[in-house]
Amino acid sequence: MRPFDYTRAENVSDACAAAFAPEAQFIAGGTNLVDLMKLEVMAPGELVDINRLGLDRIEESDGGLRVGATVTNSDLAADARIRQDYPVLSRALLAGASGQLRNKATTGGNLLQRTRCPYFYDTDSACNKRSPGAGCAAIGGETRNHAILGTSEHCIALHPSDMAVAMRALDARIEVQPQDGPAKAYEMDRFYCLPGDTPHIETVLEPGDLITSVWLPAPKGTRQVYRKVRDRASYAFALVSVAAVIEMEEGRISHASVAFGGLAPMPWRDVEVDALLAGAEPSADLFDEAADILLQGAQPQEGTEFKLPLARRALRAVLEEATL
Ligand code: SF4
Repeated sequence: MRPFDYTRAENVSDACAAAFAPEAQFIAGGTNLVDLMKLEVMAPGELVDINRLGLDRIEESDGGLRVGATVTNSDLAADARIRQDYPVLSRALLAGASGQLRNKATTGGNLLQRTRCPYFYDTDSACNKRSPGAGCAAIGGETRNHAILGTSEHCIALHPSDMAVAMRALDARIEVQPQDGPAKAYEMDRFYCLPGDTPHIETVLEPGDLITSVWLPAPKGTRQVYRKVRDRASYAFALVSVAAVIEMEEGRISHASVAFGGLAPMPWRDVEVDALLAGAEPSADLFDEAADILLQGAQPQEGTEFKLPLARRALRAVLEEATL
């Protein structure tokens, strides 16, 4: 690990100012960043500790809940309000990582965790995300844990989060304090960037921008399901995951928001899938049509073709469970 300076920020504006410096990075739980530093995939010159900014609270706000950026994954999963009103989020959190990691990992850090593409972590491999212009060793390489939607010829990496998939289905907003200027809030599809020809740019965050919280609106659906398909029963990233927030009225789906993990460089959502389901009567044909829409633009590699039928079956199973 390369030497670095360490600053413990005492308030949000000091934290943003400190992280505006070149090569500075925020740190909270450090569960991903420290690994990346040990491997010298990331080598920040300064770490700005944000654990004492008072961002560790979950508060009722504007009809929903505001989750501070340093609330740990364990505390968020265990919160009674989350378990009662946002069970899809609690289940997604508990499906991620291990108990020890969830005790340290934070809400903001989970959103910003880096891909687990093995070539990204191997500094001897070509990787456009780590070294822009270097090439992509994953294309034509080992691709079991790579994306099939939203990819580009420059990067096929996945976003690995479970939490963010549930938040996407819940229409969460990510709240950010810039180094300069008023606070901003982003819908998740506007927060993350697809790789295109700049896979090293993963979000809209600028230097010094600090995620302060995530706001969860009051859930529209009373039926919430999270299903994660993975190689091991625990401590494994999703091959495919589905988060569904569904409302039923008189035997029909009145509201549907469905998000997907394990398929794309960001927590994925397809508005055409949601639109198809809304107002429809649940049936196997309907769920198959939803899968057709979801997968129509898929571009699997040889090693990820299995995700096409897997995503179809996972979606059907989740929708059957949520609409029974
Ligand atoms: Fe790097 Fe993306 Fe290619 Fe993986 S898929 S090697 S992260 S450019």
